[in-house]
Amino acid sequence: MSVLAVLGGQWGDEGKGKVIDWLAERADVVARYQGGANAGHTVVLNGKQYILHLVPTGILHPDVRCIIGSGVVVDPLALVEEIQYLRAQGVEVGENLAVGKRTHLIMPYHKVLDAHMEDLLGVNRIGTTGRGIGPAYSDKAARLGVRVSDLLDEKILTERIRVCLALKRRILGGIGISKEESQALDEGYNLEMCRKVREILAPHVRDTEAEIQEAAESGKRILLEGAQGVLLDLDMGTYPYVTSSNTGVGGALSGLGLPYGKLNAVLGVMKAYCTRVGQGPFPTEIHGEEGERLRSAGGEYGATTGRPRRCGWFDAVAARHCIRVTGLDGLVITKLDVMDNHAAIQVCVAYELEGKRLTSFPAEINVLERCKPVYEEFPGWMTSTSGAREWEALPQRARGYLSALERLTGKKIWLISTGPGREDTIQVKDPFAALQEREPRP
Ligand code: GDP
Repeated sequence: MSVLAVLGGQWGDEGKGKVIDWLAERADVVARYQGGANAGHTVVLNGKQYILHLVPTGILHPDVRCIIGSGVVVDPLALVEEIQYLRAQGVEVGENLAVGKRTHLIMPYHKVLDAHMEDLLGVNRIGTTGRGIGPAYSDKAARLGVRVSDLLDEKILTERIRVCLALKRRILGGIGISKEESQALDEGYNLEMCRKVREILAPHVRDTEAEIQEAAESGKRILLEGAQGVLLDLDMGTYPYVTSSNTGVGGALSGLGLPYGKLNAVLGVMKAYCTRVGQGPFPTEIHGEEGERLRSAGGEYGATTGRPRRCGWFDAVAARHCIRVTGLDGLVITKLDVMDNHAAIQVCVAYELEGKRLTSFPAEINVLERCKPVYEEFPGWMTSTSGAREWEALPQRARGYLSALERLTGKKIWLISTGPGREDTIQVKDPFAALQEREPRP
């Protein structure tokens, strides 16, 4: 009774890294289930900042086992670089990191495809991070992927790369690529890359499905670490401006080979406001000076790309959609302190479309684009909440705002984050204790 999924409840960048790091202090296993190195989880520990892209956030806790599950796509070069970066920071990365055998690899040609697809799409581009993640997931679905297990078998690896490259050359040949990029289409070049990383990655390759099931059966506390957010989910998000994996509970179970009965609770992380990176509709976006104030107060620049994030007010319609499609048990509200200097705070309670009031999140992005937010205004607290560690320490108006978010989403807040540091956290409900109170699923 101790498997807890922690996933993004908005468009990503909600501060999941900080929350998972805080929870990992009481966990035995932390497992990533989807996405690639486009996720950038920032964790601040004793004033020192660590940015994690692929390695689960639990790695900063020496006794926690970290799993990169089969639903993730791994850029082997990026993973090796991250392992070396962590080791250089004095972080132990050895037996404590496992990479699933079924996990798919991002190959050099995936990155070339990613860049050219975005170019060809022009104004319709998705705004991907250009790391080959979409093309790697496409190849997985097309049964053309290369998996971690292949990395360990030279014969199979050569065959997989050959089959895949034969197709890629024909696709990219028509586009016209640079001499440098054409290397990425060379069989020898791809094989050489795999040989280079094999030695470093091989000791981490394991049957992670068996590992996580055994851990669950023996009552270990397991955190399932989501990347991006539910509004970027391939199926439930604002398609086509979404990521190429399932960011919600479905992705957690399929990406780790975890039976659904083993999952005990789901926490959704949401900021006290909203941000979005890249293209796509964002009904509560604030343009101009007020948006800029949020961006600079919240440090809203991408952890992976440095791109400025679009900022806006909390969107309760989008939050309710996320809650409905993932069955969240509770909320974690982060970055409350970023709202400290706003005299008035808006929350979107409904959308207005051509004179009609909508309370549910439309599936069609052209409809969502035309939706105007209907706001309820809350008085700001205009005093610092930064680093608050108890509910009682929060100003009355901040408590009022949080209670309003509970009312508007229909979900209770379990944790509140009031700063980037591990200690800047208010626990309203102990998530692990809450798991113990629940009946097991059949
Ligand atoms: P993630 O991918 O969901 O982990 O989010 P990011 O790491 O991209 O972005 C969250 C950023 O906000 C990081 O720089 C965190 O250090 C920071 N952060 C997290 N929680 C808080 C908070 O409560 N207050 C403030 N001021 N910063 C926070």
